[in-house]
Amino acid sequence: GLQDLSLSTNGTRLDRLATALQANEFCLYVQPKVDMQEGTLVGVEALARWRHPEQGLLGPGEFLPQIEGSVLEAPFGEWVLTHSLTLQRQWLSQGLRVPLSLNISARHLQMADFPQRVQQLLAEYADVPTSLLEIEITESAALTDIDAVSATLVQLRNMGLSVAIDDFGTGYSSLTYLRQFPADTLKIDRSFVMGMMTDIGDMAIVDGVIGLSRSFGLTLIAEGVETTEQGLRLLQMGCLLGQGYGIARPMPAHELQAWAAQWRAPEAWAQGLAKP
Ligand code: C2E
Ligand code: MG
Ligand code: MG
Repeated sequence: GLQDLSLSTNGTRLDRLATALQANEFCLYVQPKVDMQEGTLVGVEALARWRHPEQGLLGPGEFLPQIEGSVLEAPFGEWVLTHSLTLQRQWLSQGLRVPLSLNISARHLQMADFPQRVQQLLAEYADVPTSLLEIEITESAALTDIDAVSATLVQLRNMGLSVAIDDFGTGYSSLTYLRQFPADTLKIDRSFVMGMMTDIGDMAIVDGVIGLSRSFGLTLIAEGVETTEQGLRLLQMGCLLGQGYGIARPMPAHELQAWAAQWRAPEAWAQGLAKP
């Protein structure tokens, strides 16, 4: 259990992270995903933050590298899962029904008891429809051991969860692999969204991924939409879903409902497809 973690962690930083986990210093921010054409909220991504008592709010870059590969990796991932289910329970009680995706590390996903632990947690939160949960796994992680990862993802999907491939385009997925890969969604990496306005190569990649998602019947979402112009270009190319600072920054979970009530898509997006 959590009590034993400080004994098995080695080094002060990891000890401190174990304490943070026990003391509930981690929290999940959420970032909206929207249909840019319709101007509607289609889901959120849960992103871990550490409310450090002295250093303030810290992003994953400040703690994930230490957690990954350590004894804390599974406990942290389970905390993310549990907390995501808690959030869903709260939102449902407020009448808010919004799919939530959470990030799971490759190593955690490949642990032998992972599907079983997920099953147990889902049973504890039987009131939360599993269709409201999506697991995000990075493309590079998915490629580490394709057969093992695929088998696990099949089990998760059989439980009713969705699967998204994160940072898509940065790995080296072959078409054969993509054809048989058990995923529902591709998240095109934000580096291509950023580059596509000026770099013809990035533009070609975005265009290619849009075509791939269509051919394989996968939902496509663009990460890192920072400007109205990027959103408009994506819409014109046929990518309707977006997530990024230009729509909303990650926010404390309790702010989501108020955000959704007041958000309006830029005028240009609604008209985007009508223009030549
Ligand atoms: P990710 O899953 O690809 O998440 C998207 C990251 O891009 C988030 O960074 C988000 O804040 C940031 N982002 C969103 N829109 C924009 C934008 O328009 N411009 C820019 N420059 N950035 C944008 P964050 O929260 O720092 O997370 C970084 C990474 O840490 C995540 O990348 C994910 O791989 C990992 N991570 C975050 N939370 C968790 C977690 O709970 N568990 C695990 N295993 N990994 C997590
Ligand atoms: Mg993600
Ligand atoms: Mg990503």
